[in-house]
Amino acid sequence: MSKKGQGSLVVVSGFSGTGKGTVMKRLLEEKEDYALSVSVTTRPPREGEENGREYFFITEEQFREMIRSDELLEYATYVSHSYGTPAAYVFEKMEQGQNVLLEIDIQGALKVKAKYPEALLVFLIPPSAEELRRRLVSRGTEDWETIVRRLARAAEEADVVSAYDYVLVNDDLDQCVDALDRIVQIQRSRTPRMLDAVARIKDDLRRIIENPQEAE
Ligand code: ADP
Ligand code: 5GP
Repeated sequence: MSKKGQGSLVVVSGFSGTGKGTVMKRLLEEKEDYALSVSVTTRPPREGEENGREYFFITEEQFREMIRSDELLEYATYVSHSYGTPAAYVFEKMEQGQNVLLEIDIQGALKVKAKYPEALLVFLIPPSAEELRRRLVSRGTEDWETIVRRLARAAEEADVVSAYDYVLVNDDLDQCVDALDRIVQIQRSRTPRMLDAVARIKDDLRRIIENPQEAE
């Protein structure tokens, strides 16, 4: 493990079009101790998306094979396509002290929390429903029917938000990025994560008490 200790597992969810991708991209550009988990999906790439950058685009058969060989930390179906988080990369980066960002839907987030209760679950919301519709339309990556399905899904997801640790409003982008970073940094000081450090000091104190004159 790195000197900084193990990194945090940070799940970022939010209604489609809220700005999760935009917020995480900014955080990765500005801070060095973050790594982004790249999911696998069976959905076709959008214009401008690159295999291995936004997603690893794979077939249904490849997806089933990854489930069979237990390579996915979690997986879920979202509006007719499958999405999953490859486990190996996540653990490797956390061991290196990086905070690993997972941009996954609510079903996936709840599975991650059940497996790793110390995961931090953050839900992003837009300033208003009208602004969400505007952002989805202005992104211009989905047809109208898909936008309506995604808005309907957003209304359903609103009921499950209480399972999250924090809800952040993505109104001003810079403020939202700062708030997310602050939450992650504070998470590192939560008591269960600091018990090893406390135990080390306790051991050292015992040694000092036994040999008070002996310098390091
Ligand atoms: P998501 O990943 O949640 O589906 P995106 O990151 O693709 O959403 O953002 C959806 C659209 O909203 C994009 O066109 C993006 O530029 C815009 N957007 C994101 N954050 C903000 C913000 N804080 N203010 C205004 N527009 C934003
Ligand atoms: P999109 O098609 O807009 O890229 O993503 C659709 C939804 O799938 C979003 O809510 C996104 O967070 C979610 N998603 C992306 N990757 C994963 C994943 O690996 N697992 C789960 N459970 N959801 C994912």
